[in-house]
Amino acid sequence: MLLLVDLDGTVWRGRAAVPGVPELLTERAAAGDVVVYVTNNSTRHRADYMPRLAAIGAPADISRIVTSARATAVHLASLEPRVDRVLAVGTPGLVAELREVGLTVFPAGEVADTITDGALRVAAAGDPQAVVVGLDRGFDYGRLAVASACIRAGALFLATNRDPVFPTEYGFVPGAGSIVAAVEVASGVAPVSIGKPGPLLLEVAADAVGLPLDGAVVIGDSLQTDIPAAHAAGVASVLLLTGVTTVEHLDELPASQHPTAVARDAAELRAVLARLAG
Ligand SMILES: [Mg+2]
Repeated sequence: MLLLVDLDGTVWRGRAAVPGVPELLTERAAAGDVVVYVTNNSTRHRADYMPRLAAIGAPADISRIVTSARATAVHLASLEPRVDRVLAVGTPGLVAELREVGLTVFPAGEVADTITDGALRVAAAGDPQAVVVGLDRGFDYGRLAVASACIRAGALFLATNRDPVFPTEYGFVPGAGSIVAAVEVASGVAPVSIGKPGPLLLEVAADAVGLPLDGAVVIGDSLQTDIPAAHAAGVASVLLLTGVTTVEHLDELPASQHPTAVARDAAELRAVLARLAG
C-alpha cells in the first residue's frame, strides 16, 4: 500500500516521536508498503526533515518527503504554458525548493523594500508569471503590495496551503493561510492552493514514487486538512487521535466527512492498516 503520512501530530509532536509510530512505519515499509510523508509546512526544504526522521527511527528518504513547498514547485514546473519566473512570499526553504526545479525566483522581501510605484513593482519583481505565497514571518505591507500588483498584472496565484493558524508550544500562531488571505483581498483573485485539504499535495506525493493515488491510505491527525484531502482525492483515510483531534470533534461531523477508520494510538493503527491491506 501507498501510505501518505502527515508529520506534525502524527509522526511527532514537537521534538518527541508519537510513541510507536516510527517503529510501525518501519515495519510497514519492510513488509512492502511505500511510506511518503505529506506536510502542509511550507517553510523548510525537505532535506531539513531527514535528520529528524532518522533520529526517531522513522523511514527517511528524501524522495519520499513531500512538503507543500516541494509540491508547489513540482506543480509549477509541470504547467503548460511554461512558467519560468516566480515571485515568492515565503522562507528561504520555499525559495530553495522553487529554484531546485529550475524556476527563476524573486523573493518578495528583496523586491519590496525599495520601490513605491505599483507598475514599477511588477517590473522590478522580474515580471513573474506566477506568485507563490507560503508562511513568511517577515511579511509586511511592501511584500503584500508587490505580490498583489503582480497578480493584478496577470500572474498566476498559488498558495502553498491555507492553514489559518498552527499550534506551537506557546499556543496558536498565524499560518500561511492568514498571509494568503491578505494577498487574496489585495489582489481580488482567489489562489490555487496546493496543500491539504485539497488533493494536489497527495497527487504530487503519489507521482513522486511513481504509484497511482488509487488505493493509497492517508494517515493524519486533522479533520481540517488530512481527512478532507483524502476525501477530495477519493482515497481511504485513518484519523489518529494523537494530535489536534479528539473523539468529540469527530462526533460533531456528519458521517460523510468521517475518516475510513480511527486509531487512538500506534497499536490501533497497526490493526487498522492490517485490515485495510486485507
Ligand atoms: Mg498534523
